[in-house]
Amino acid sequence: MLNGQDRASSVGVWLRDVVRICRVADSRRDRVHGSAAAGRVLIWDFDGTLGHRPGHWSGAIADALSDVLGPHGFSRAMISAEIRDGFPWHTPQVPHPLLADGDAWWRHLGRVLAAAIGRLGVAPSAAAAAANRVRPHYTDPASWQLFPDAVPTLAALSGLGWRHVLLSNHVPELPEIVTGLGLGRYFNVIVNSAETGYEKPHPQAFRLALERSGWPRSAWMIGDNPVADVAGAVSAGLRAILVRTPPADGSRYVPDLADVIGLVSG
Ligand SMILES: [Mg+2]
Repeated sequence: MLNGQDRASSVGVWLRDVVRICRVADSRRDRVHGSAAAGRVLIWDFDGTLGHRPGHWSGAIADALSDVLGPHGFSRAMISAEIRDGFPWHTPQVPHPLLADGDAWWRHLGRVLAAAIGRLGVAPSAAAAAANRVRPHYTDPASWQLFPDAVPTLAALSGLGWRHVLLSNHVPELPEIVTGLGLGRYFNVIVNSAETGYEKPHPQAFRLALERSGWPRSAWMIGDNPVADVAGAVSAGLRAILVRTPPADGSRYVPDLADVIGLVSG
């Protein structure tokens, strides 16, 4: 098994190879279809950037276990330790177009979750039942919250002429969660890995966001993940802003979304 450093290095080599292939395809496309359409687009990550789910996955699994077992002694830390692999975004170098159907996506994840719950010592039948209960808990829009600076920043940037696109590694129900949080008016383009089969930082995820934006003249990626959002976007030729997570390198970083306005306007 690769350690963290080897895995990062391996992903980096893979990313460079895929980006090179995509750039050849881009140059061919431009020769055929002409240059990108005019327009200014901001491509936003969702989870951890605009909104968040208090309790995250481990909280949803704990709630599902309560449904099946009643009171249980599994802490969120114990559950988190068992869900570090198997989710589609843990292997972004592997596209998963066969999971594009929402039920297929959840059947796949249900097997991952049942195995993780089983490793806690839960009997297989109860683990499978709890795994099936995770979906309604995790996807309930009422279990999600917006960061206070999300709507004011989106509204201000809309007023300055920017269009917004969502690019997220997420569950199939992301559009319903976004609508439930009142963000539907800002996002008429949502590029969701559960639908496309491409997880950031895969270059195809960023290409799809640009394609569905009409190949804008100017575009930025904004997100809280230095690898999936920032490194992936930069490798795909986009400018990127890291938010909320202080960087380990020299990435453009702002602690609050309101500071994005100055960066993209400068
Ligand atoms: Mg995020």
